[in-house]
Amino acid sequence: MYCARLANLSKQGALGALATGIAHEVNQPLVAIKNYARAAKRYAEGESPDGSKLVELIAEMEAEANRAGVIIQKIRALLRTGQVHAERCSLSTVVRDVLRELTAKMPADRTRVSMKIEVDVPPVLADPLQLQLVVANLLRNALESVEFAPAGDAKRVTISARATDDGEVELSVADTGAGAPVDAIEELFAPLFSTKASGMGMGLAVSRTIVEAHGGRIWCVPNPSGGATFLFTLPVAGGA
Ligand code: ADP
Repeated sequence: MYCARLANLSKQGALGALATGIAHEVNQPLVAIKNYARAAKRYAEGESPDGSKLVELIAEMEAEANRAGVIIQKIRALLRTGQVHAERCSLSTVVRDVLRELTAKMPADRTRVSMKIEVDVPPVLADPLQLQLVVANLLRNALESVEFAPAGDAKRVTISARATDDGEVELSVADTGAGAPVDAIEELFAPLFSTKASGMGMGLAVSRTIVEAHGGRIWCVPNPSGGATFLFTLPVAGGA
């Protein structure tokens, strides 16, 4: 399904913001490749390097390079047509796909990620690649936030989706991390705002551009028991 609002917005520069988002996405596999390369170098320089361990590390590098390639291919296709196509998307499928990719490398017992999606949550009208970017940004931030929670504290990320009474679907990502800086809640969504040593500060800015282009809203609330919840809404896809 072709969405005129998205096409119009893309002409006004949303594609530029999206490109920055893609840079952000591609940066992740690049950082991973660098880390694997460092590990391989350290390992090869060790006393009795084992060839199979090196092959394992090189295979990881190859997988990450492929991942970066897929992201670039997707955005090329998007730029070639110059159009953004919105289609009926199931949020639970998008969340599952993103989760699978993000948590594949996580140590199993460190963080508990749970998903609570109402069975009858209706599909939304969205560009699937852009929706994946938003969900990946929120999830990655939540996972990073719990990673730095004090030792002994619960490390939990909960993703929920529900239909609202206003014909929208609301997705929330709640974490038990350190919480967002309360005096800068609006600034979090500004381009280049980051409190992380190696943060680009583009994840939330791009997410806001995408969500608003789809006719939704995105915001953040502190959790009463600590941590933060990021939420966004998208209109329910009409028709049968
Ligand atoms: P980056 O992750 O590169 O810093 P983002 O735009 O994704 O860029 O996030 C901007 C800032 O918002 C982060 O640096 C952090 O201060 C804050 N933030 C985002 N998500 C969370 C979260 N789940 N918990 C606490 N703070 C967060």
